[in-house]
Amino acid sequence: MRVVPISLPTPFYIGPVNVYLIAEDPLTIIDTGPKTKETVEALRAGLRNAGYLVSDLRRIVLTHAHEDHCGLARSLRDEAKNAEVFVHNWETGHRHSRLEYEEHRMLLVRAGVPDTEIERMRGLYEYMRRYADSFGDDEYTSLWDEGELEFESGSLRILHTPGHTPGSCSFLREADRTIIAGDCVLKRITPNPVLSPDPIDPTRRFPSLAEYLVSLARLRSFSPTLVYGGHGEPIHDYEELFHRYFRAFQDRQAQVIGLIPKLGMTAWDVALKMFPQADDVHRFLSVSEAVAHLDLAQTEGKIAFELKDQTEVYKPLS
Ligand SMILES: [Zn+2]
Ligand SMILES: [Zn+2]
Repeated sequence: MRVVPISLPTPFYIGPVNVYLIAEDPLTIIDTGPKTKETVEALRAGLRNAGYLVSDLRRIVLTHAHEDHCGLARSLRDEAKNAEVFVHNWETGHRHSRLEYEEHRMLLVRAGVPDTEIERMRGLYEYMRRYADSFGDDEYTSLWDEGELEFESGSLRILHTPGHTPGSCSFLREADRTIIAGDCVLKRITPNPVLSPDPIDPTRRFPSLAEYLVSLARLRSFSPTLVYGGHGEPIHDYEELFHRYFRAFQDRQAQVIGLIPKLGMTAWDVALKMFPQADDVHRFLSVSEAVAHLDLAQTEGKIAFELKDQTEVYKPLS
């Protein structure tokens, strides 16, 4: 199976995004890059180098529905006529190009984020939307855990690997234990378990970090020889990276627990202490990270929390 990585420019802080062409029948692309002119031109060039045109694509498969990965899906599908789009049906908010705004707002209120900041985050979200088109429920096929994407010379096994987002998926080629993992595994940065409503019960918070740790362990169980991430170089030493991630999570959790004073603190306060310089989208990501660690520490019985006027206040164990 010929996997052709194509690096595409994005207008985002994270830099270029990797998409993966599976260069055999039915011609398949995993992720698309954001909807910008530069990206689509780079993608056309990448396909041309591999001997193909956009119109040859038969399947567009999305690891998850962040703008840098899914933005061009609709326009590629339209250009390729019969191409089928696949994404996990837990990628609800972004898939429909709406934030499930009320549910997200409630999560931010519970995290102690002030109204003015929530409004600012909303503005940023509206701005991000321009980089992706949405899909209606009848316009895509849902990816399902342990399903197979069949190709001429074999298949890719679908692994639902939630954490970074609830519907994140990875793809395993068993013959050589290669995994395409989207933003679940990145070489140089520890992915953010992004604050999301639970797809099953949107009034609750998705336990992003707890789920993410399970997904990382599951990928490890396949002893991958090569992992292709959504950004940066491929990973040949997943085992080492796995331990690095775990150490980073443990250190961060200890740091978060250490920050909480006797009187208690909200996730927003923790985020401000951890990342005082964060602005724009990083403000949201830092809250997201604080919530993820507080959530897990509380589940593990390391800190306590109480609800005060709709806001969660974390406290050290007495
Ligand atoms: Zn992402
Ligand atoms: Zn990404």
